[in-house]
Amino acid sequence: MTPAAFFARCRRDPKTGCLIYCGARCGGGYGEVRHPGGRREVAHRFAWKLAGRRITKKRPELRHTCDCRPCVELGHLRAGTHAQNMADMARKRRGRRSRRRLPPGVQPNRGDGSGKGYQARVSLGGRRLHLGTFPSIAEALAAVDGALGRA
Ligand SMILES: [Zn+2]
Repeated sequence: MTPAAFFARCRRDPKTGCLIYCGARCGGGYGEVRHPGGRREVAHRFAWKLAGRRITKKRPELRHTCDCRPCVELGHLRAGTHAQNMADMARKRRGRRSRRRLPPGVQPNRGDGSGKGYQARVSLGGRRLHLGTFPSIAEALAAVDGALGRA
């Protein structure tokens, strides 16, 4: 595929700055370039090489800093080792979990099977008290604070 044909298939996302490859996708959700003769290449690696950058044995993997797999914006790509790539993914997974971290005493409502709302529980005098189910974290936390005399 020629550079012109390649970039004709790309669209800039004005919100993220990503340059999205709108051609074929391979199984993992990455863009896929098909060369004459049937050889296939992942679109962001192709873009990397078009820009004259090399993929070395030492740093064989290209990572997306933007988490957008079909993105071919060079500014969003970093060459790195497989270990760095894995560490990156682990960090992002941890990040997602920590956003869901709840204050002590508050937990997702699993009691009635609806999966909605938050349960408030406290330990008072060695006994677990269930304070009820609340629609928001703030209300559940207020109940916990109230029961503990912190309100
Ligand atoms: Zn991007």
